[in-house]
Amino acid sequence: MVKDFFWWLFKENIVINLIYREFFTLFFSKKQAQYNLEQDDVISKEYIIEHYKNKQPRWAIKGYSSGTTNTPLTVYRSIPSIFLEEYIVKSYLKYIGVPLRPNIVILRGDNIKTTAQKFWIKMPFSQRLIMSSYHISEQTALAYFKALEQYKPHIIFAYPSSITLLAKYAQKLNWKPSWNLSGVLTSSENFSATNQKIVRTIFGQVYDHYGQAERVAVLQQCKQGNYHVRNDYSYVEFLVDEHGTKIVGTNLHNKSMPLKRYDTHDYIEGLNSEGSCICGNKSDYVKRILGRDDDYIILNDGRQIGRLDTAFKGVNGLIECQLEQTRLTELIVRYVPTLNANTSNLQLTIKQNLTQKLGNDINILFEQVNEVPRTKAGKFKSVIRSKAVSNA
Ligand SMILES: [Zn+2]
Repeated sequence: MVKDFFWWLFKENIVINLIYREFFTLFFSKKQAQYNLEQDDVISKEYIIEHYKNKQPRWAIKGYSSGTTNTPLTVYRSIPSIFLEEYIVKSYLKYIGVPLRPNIVILRGDNIKTTAQKFWIKMPFSQRLIMSSYHISEQTALAYFKALEQYKPHIIFAYPSSITLLAKYAQKLNWKPSWNLSGVLTSSENFSATNQKIVRTIFGQVYDHYGQAERVAVLQQCKQGNYHVRNDYSYVEFLVDEHGTKIVGTNLHNKSMPLKRYDTHDYIEGLNSEGSCICGNKSDYVKRILGRDDDYIILNDGRQIGRLDTAFKGVNGLIECQLEQTRLTELIVRYVPTLNANTSNLQLTIKQNLTQKLGNDINILFEQVNEVPRTKAGKFKSVIRSKAVSNA
């Protein structure tokens, strides 16, 4: 309650929104100096660990990377960089066409108190409707849709996995929003093209925001579905290595932790530097963000096989699925089926699809669950490897 009051006061009222949208634009979008970084080394997580091991910058606000399979990282943010982060989201909302005093639904892994029939909570001051990501199922979906219909949000802030889940149940129930919804703003997880398509058929536009705790690069999807670089946020380079093209960023507004040429370890596809997107935005864009370079399975012969989500494309009766490699020769497929699914057929199809990509040297086991467990930060991971495998 108190937290929500301050949220409303400092983050979510009409005056604050107006200041961010109109005033901060002038402040942050000043033309950035040209950077000549080629002689600087590309740095990575180890640099932060080493450099900030024993020093905490003054006036800095501490943050953490969520660290899913890897160790979490402590990062530092200056006051202007906190403003910048807020500005980058609020100006995106302006682009999307969300009003200055919007109704916002949050579906982002918040732990809230729920009852047997109510899986959401309306905040008294900010008026945000916070919905639980953990109770979405075939039995509860209709209740979620009714609550949405009643609240009529202008925008839904969601984790990709949570909104995909809702969209799948909406398809089954033949449900669509009956009010004027601007779309869904997603972030924090990898959002595959297949899942984006499912979400679009129900909720209309998808606006996926890509960023990271180290805050060195932001890319945001335009109405054409392309991910544009926010040049008012940082200086972004796309560098090619043995895994593909990756995002490397230099922050410009964080004196507490200046990072030059920081390797995000996130990879992209379909880079366009011509400024030719028909949305009118002249900045560089990419077609897809493939995500972290650790979303892969390691085979006995050392090969790394990524992008395994295509193995589940169009599998009948499948709601969610996660792969966990427990040994070099063992893979667990954890899955949530629909109520009336033919699970033996489903398992057979997945097994065939996976064997096609991984060969016969890996033993595939199945584990039927009611929900795929989330990380501590409430995020969905499609591929996880046990430590023993990663260090093998
Ligand atoms: Zn565009």
